[in-house]
Amino acid sequence: MPRNNRAKRTKRSAEPEELDLSSLRMGIRRTEIKRGVEYTTQTSIGANAEEDKSWICPNCNLQISKGLSHIVAWDSVRGVETRRHFHNACWKSFQGQLL
Ligand SMILES: [Zn+2]
Repeated sequence: MPRNNRAKRTKRSAEPEELDLSSLRMGIRRTEIKRGVEYTTQTSIGANAEEDKSWICPNCNLQISKGLSHIVAWDSVRGVETRRHFHNACWKSFQGQLL
């Protein structure tokens, strides 16, 4: 079960978190439930990432290139520090837990 901190936070549009600032540039944020765990997902094209930035998709263990449209997902309860980058198709099939 989720712990009590921030689990039932009411939605507010302006939160003083760094990621919310970048989300304005990054894309659309959604909430999804997978196997009873609530995740927040956001589309990203990685266009404003640093040079040579790339990510390893935890579903297929392949690299996501800078500039490729993909999904950033994190555990809504545990917070943005659990976020991982997925290929769009990989996020759809991903059923595991974010570590
Ligand atoms: Zn993948």
